[in-house]
Amino acid sequence: MEENGKVRIGFYALTSCYGCQLQFAMMDEILQLLPNAEIVCWYMLERDSKEIEPVDIAFIEGSVSTEEEVELVKKIRENAKTVVAVGSCAVHGGVQSWEKDKSLDELWKTVYGDGTVKFQPKMAEPVEKYIKVDYKIYGCPPEKKDFVYAIGTLLIGSWPEDIDYPVCLEC
Ligand code: SF4
Repeated sequence: MEENGKVRIGFYALTSCYGCQLQFAMMDEILQLLPNAEIVCWYMLERDSKEIEPVDIAFIEGSVSTEEEVELVKKIRENAKTVVAVGSCAVHGGVQSWEKDKSLDELWKTVYGDGTVKFQPKMAEPVEKYIKVDYKIYGCPPEKKDFVYAIGTLLIGSWPEDIDYPVCLEC
């Protein structure tokens, strides 16, 4: 926590569509959080330009799909008091983790052909496979009310209850 009493928040993204962050950005309630919180890192606004700073709450969107992301989630965990996995990609691995019958090489060639990239790909997996996750917000993207409940509860120093998330919202 800052000396000014504000809770330090970081919002990080791994392999994802940034939809969970967009959902967060579209919450009017964010404005009400600001007097009590400081967003020290938000990948949607600024990425790769800062070191991972210590935070009270780290929200992580996306699956772990490269060797670089393995190191990144470990660093986020080392610097966060509480880690929250946000959305189906972070919690379950997302659609990018569904194809288990093909090798990484086959998948890679299907998407990128013989193209080269700067990162080292690996099969997509949930964040919890690599680090301890303290709380999960389900959905793709999560519903705003679940975000508000989790953030609001954590900000007042309490702990949110797990929310049952049905496979079908009509269930
Ligand atoms: Fe996008 Fe859904 Fe993954 Fe969130 S959970 S990053 S909305 S695909």
